[in-house]
Amino acid sequence: MPLARSATRSGETRPFPGIHPPYLLRRSSRRRSLALRVSEAGEIVVNAPLLLSQREIDGFLHKHADWIGARLQAAREHRFDWQDGVLLPYLGGQLQLRLLDQPGPARARQDGAALLCNAQPAQAPALVLRWYQRNARALLGERLAHHAAHAGCPMPPLRLSNARTRWGSLSARGVVSLNWRLLKAPLEAIDYVICHELAHFKQRNHSPAFWREVAVLFPDWKKVRSELRQNGRLYFQF
Ligand SMILES: [Zn+2]
Repeated sequence: MPLARSATRSGETRPFPGIHPPYLLRRSSRRRSLALRVSEAGEIVVNAPLLLSQREIDGFLHKHADWIGARLQAAREHRFDWQDGVLLPYLGGQLQLRLLDQPGPARARQDGAALLCNAQPAQAPALVLRWYQRNARALLGERLAHHAAHAGCPMPPLRLSNARTRWGSLSARGVVSLNWRLLKAPLEAIDYVICHELAHFKQRNHSPAFWREVAVLFPDWKKVRSELRQNGRLYFQF
């Protein structure tokens, strides 16, 4: 399930095909080949020969979509302010990060509405990410088992994904991949994405028949999908 499509921001930028923010296109008669970069601020800049067709540029961006996604993610993580007191999205609400400096092993644990992180500030991002991933495995596994039982199918293997552009997917071999960042979204969004992937066991496409399957498993899918599309980018800050 891809994230929402992006829109054009201004006359200078063009919609990136698919999932990414708009990019800045610069054409030059001196240029012979395409060049692509992502700035520290997370801006995608494409330098192109003067007469190169838009189709070729789009194809080039498609081909490098993973690389762009990785660079955008790195730029976002770089900008995220990992300070004591910062609010972290969690299950549709927030946890407050508390950086402690106590003797003992570096670790993160939840205490009510706080995520206590006993680490040097530089270690905090990695600890927090591990905490999310550990909890994502537990909760997503539990919800997947629940919905699989409800759908009358055996529990499929679960793979935790770190994808930059997808919430979930179903492999040809029947492995359900779910993005650990879903743990930042409300439970209903988690349930929707799981039901979406389970419905793909019956329909390997996005036809009307597929959406009928989704509606059986998760009647409120339209509302939850549009909320996820609206808020989804927030969950990709780290
Ligand atoms: Zn799908």
